[in-house]
Order: sequence, then C-alpha cells, then structure tokens
Amino acid sequence: MSGGDNDVVLIKGNKRLDGRGFDELRDIKMEVSVLERAEGSAYIEWGKNRVIVGVYGPRELHPKFLQDPTRAMLRCVYNLAPFSVDERKKPGPDRRSVEISKVCAEALSSVVMLERFPNTVIDVYVEVLQADAGTRCAGLTAASLALADAGIPMKDLVAACSAGKVQGQIVVDLMKEEDNFGQCDLPMAIIPRKSEVVLLQMDGKLSRDEFKQAYKMAVDGCMKVYEMQKNTLLGSMNKFVGVEGGVENGD
Ligand code: ADP
Repeated sequence: MSGGDNDVVLIKGNKRLDGRGFDELRDIKMEVSVLERAEGSAYIEWGKNRVIVGVYGPRELHPKFLQDPTRAMLRCVYNLAPFSVDERKKPGPDRRSVEISKVCAEALSSVVMLERFPNTVIDVYVEVLQADAGTRCAGLTAASLALADAGIPMKDLVAACSAGKVQGQIVVDLMKEEDNFGQCDLPMAIIPRKSEVVLLQMDGKLSRDEFKQAYKMAVDGCMKVYEMQKNTLLGSMNKFVGVEGGVENGD
C-alpha cells in the first residue's frame, strides 16, 4: 500500500484494471480433500492467488506443559512460497508471515469447538503457492474449509474478503496492482451465522464514511464467499455418497 500513486491508472470509467466493477470479486474456485495424508485439506484459486491448506489433528500436544486440560490449541502456519511472488522470496518465516499466522489462528479459534479436545493441538498449514494480494483472506477461507473437511466440529465457517480504496473509489477484493498503488486495504473475516467479525486489519487511511462503505462491501464479499464455501462442502459430500455419478461410477 503506497498511500496512493497518482501516476498509475487503476480505474477507467466504471471499470478496474482487470475489467471488474467496484463491487465485483475476482473469480474464485474451491476444492476440498485435495491431500491424501492430511486429516483435512482445501485448495483455493482466488484471482491469481493459489493457496493450499492442510489440517492435522486434534492430536496430543507436546511438550506436555503446553497442554490445556480445558481446550485444544489451534496453531496456524502461513507460508509464502519462494516462487509465489515476482522476485524469489527468502524461504522461511518473517515478520509478515508470523503476524498473518497469528491473526488467522485467532480467527479460526473462534469457530472451532476447541473445548471438545482438551490437551490436544490442531495444526493448520496455509501454503501460498502464488500470491496476488488478498492471500490472508484466501488462506483463511480455505483453512476453514480444510477444518470442516477434517470433520472438526465448528460453530460455523470463517469467510474472508477484503475491501479498500483505489483512486478515491471504494472497491472490493483488491488485486496486486490495487494493493500496491491504492490508498487503503481492509481485509476482513466474519462468522456469517453470527455476523461476528473475527479479523479486521487496515493498511492505509479511510474517512469514517469511507470505512462504513468499505466495511459493508467486505461483509457482502464475505457472504458471497460463504455461499461458495457451503456449495463446495455440499458438493464434496454428494461426491462421497455417489450423487451425480460420484463414487458409485468410479469418478
Ligand atoms: P495479503 O496477501 O493478505 O493481501 P499483504 O497486503 O501483506 O497481504 O500483501 C499483499 C501482496 O504483496 C501479497 O499477496 C503478495 O502478492 C505481495 N507480497 C507480500 N509479501 C511479499 C514479499 N516478501 N515479496 C514479494 N511480494 C510480496
């Protein structure tokens, strides 16, 4: 986020660089059960973002002194692959990935019924294979699908989407150029059934009215993402019971 670069044209007429309207999301595809050895997994393509998530657990937490007899611990590791960005990223954790891992773990902990699994740990690995802004939203969205795919009891899914300000205009779901040269990015995640916000970060500045507008756009975006998540999980269940030629036809 540069604070707004006037030389870069991001909006022409009512269209953005990639032809989207202001309230339009990028194309999103989701899939669950993509990894054989993880308890649960999900893959998401969100615009040019490519993210895969694997979930392990609940399993006994070691070292034992970290165990909580009242609840499970949910750990999240967000990792940006070296080949996921324009110039090779140095492998391993950095300040940004530690921060994103922390906020994602907190957001997911608010839906998972951790009290059902005392003394255990649930590990969520978010691997970003290709990044184009909005990876924490894509990662969180896929992570809650992977947790559901693992059969871990949850109060609801977490659905995420960002909004922001680009060339003075409030828009939803910023892509890389908009994130780089725009004026503000507001990633959000919600628990749709409770209308509860579980992640809200802001990079840049917005007036009070602009914030209200961006907040509403992000929530609307989250609700669209939520519908896609539910359809993905329903589709995967149908596959297992052999609906539409799934397992029964050997597909
Ligand atoms: P998010 O991906 O959740 O929007 P940021 O706003 O921190 O998170 O990052 C925006 C985008 O900037 C990322 O999606 C990625 O495309 C790019 N980016 C982030 N970190 C790096 C890095 N270390 N090297 C190159 N590009 C990066």
